[in-house]
Amino acid sequence: MYIVLLGAPGAGKGTQAGALTQELKLAHIASGDLFRQALGKGTELGLQAKAYMEKGQLVPNEITIKMVLERITSPDCAAGIILDGFPRNVEQAKALDEALKLQKKGIDYAVYIKVSEGELLKRLTGRWICRKCQAPFHEVSSPPKTKGKCDKCGGELYQRADDNTETIKKRLEVFFAETAPLIEYYSRTNKLMEVQGEGSMEDISARIISALRAKNQKK
Ligand code: ADP
Ligand code: ZN
Repeated sequence: MYIVLLGAPGAGKGTQAGALTQELKLAHIASGDLFRQALGKGTELGLQAKAYMEKGQLVPNEITIKMVLERITSPDCAAGIILDGFPRNVEQAKALDEALKLQKKGIDYAVYIKVSEGELLKRLTGRWICRKCQAPFHEVSSPPKTKGKCDKCGGELYQRADDNTETIKKRLEVFFAETAPLIEYYSRTNKLMEVQGEGSMEDISARIISALRAKNQKK
């Protein structure tokens, strides 16, 4: 199964991708994580992406598409993937479709996790993430048991450099201008599923899984 997760920054794509990969035994590919890893290692790719990420802009398609397409052809992706943060504009979606077509595969579903703008801002400003396993926490709504430490793996929690008010605003702007058109793109081919993204993490996972099952039966 090949699934694309769509949603604004802060919609919970990372959290839900984590839950879904376990439930459905798929590989989780997060373009933002790939960039942050490259940045952490100081590779050429990381250096290329850095300035864009800091400003909340999209990294150019040329760089992003190459990186993700390379990643999804590795053996651990053969059984299926959940893409989180990619595609983020129509050009990326088309490149993805073409690459999968060459492997006689294709995207099965695009799950749009819908969250109001006020809620997105609230979530992003208090976000802390585990350096080791990327699990997200929130100062107010889901604080870790021990301050600064991941509940799941004990890793150190940090705040992303782009989770500051100014960059958050820019990222939301980019989402509505560039990524929102993908909702229409996937709806045209009847792959779109819209899920209400407010509520508890477990409720939202359950909504996504039951929507996927319902849609899968109709196929
Ligand atoms: P969020 O969805 O919360 O903004 P991500 O971790 O997905 O966070 O992305 C962080 C940053 O990485 C983006 O603001 C952008 O600069 C870059 N990035 C991630 N995915 C893409 C993509 N598909 N195309 C272009 N840039 C991307
Ligand atoms: Zn952790």
